[in-house]
Amino acid sequence: MKFKAHLSFSLIVLLFASLFSCATTGPGGERDLILISTEQEKQLGREFDQQVRAESKIYTNEQWNNYFNEIGQRIVAVSDRKDLDYTFTIIESDDVNAFAVPGGYIYIYTGLLNVMENEAQLAAVTSHEISHVVARHTVKRLQQVLGISLLYQIVMGEASSDAMDAAIGLGLNIALSGYSRDYEREADQYGVFYMEKAGYNPEGALGLFNEMQEAHGGASDERSFFENIFASHPETQERINNVEEQISQYPREVLSRDKNHDKYQQMKALLPQ
Ligand SMILES: [Zn+2]
Repeated sequence: MKFKAHLSFSLIVLLFASLFSCATTGPGGERDLILISTEQEKQLGREFDQQVRAESKIYTNEQWNNYFNEIGQRIVAVSDRKDLDYTFTIIESDDVNAFAVPGGYIYIYTGLLNVMENEAQLAAVTSHEISHVVARHTVKRLQQVLGISLLYQIVMGEASSDAMDAAIGLGLNIALSGYSRDYEREADQYGVFYMEKAGYNPEGALGLFNEMQEAHGGASDERSFFENIFASHPETQERINNVEEQISQYPREVLSRDKNHDKYQQMKALLPQ
């Protein structure tokens, strides 16, 4: 009995290994074993998106949607993951936040749009969220928490609707409540890398941190920025230090790029207050 159980587990591992090769999950040829295929991820993503839409007030201003989408697509074009149709959605809410779910669905709240001051900052948060998708952070967390049986059902396309619901609930929770410190560090790092590659001034990432810290003020111990991940000041400070260090490597031409302050302010005037 014991041998049989062992054998079938080995078979599953073998099956996985033969069916799925490593996927690129970041700049510089970063790779990881991803069991949930892009097709399955897209399917999960569509269901996540439906749930988000059912529970949120979507901001429909066309100018803003085009603007956000253009910035997003410009970053996607230089990213290490283009096998998804990325969608960029604005949610009308005072929350000073943004998040991403698998399948390339990126969301930002008008509350965050309202506290930022230029386009480079918007590009920074967009690039950070795209990086969570490129690095498949939610997918990787799901692979860890779903358990072998549910994961097997999803991977083999045999999951019942109850099983899918369970996976979606877990995934949304991960996307909204935050990733590990390592995943955040990675998204910050890739985010700066991609936004610069897309032609933006990477200093926007520092500006963004400052605006968010200011917006959250003394309350940042309780809920902080980006998917509410930062529970404490030391981590926030560490994050800022890392980004500062990364940005300091860029030449002056890059750091003197226009941050598109005026255009952003015009767009900001359209937002609901
Ligand atoms: Zn994040």
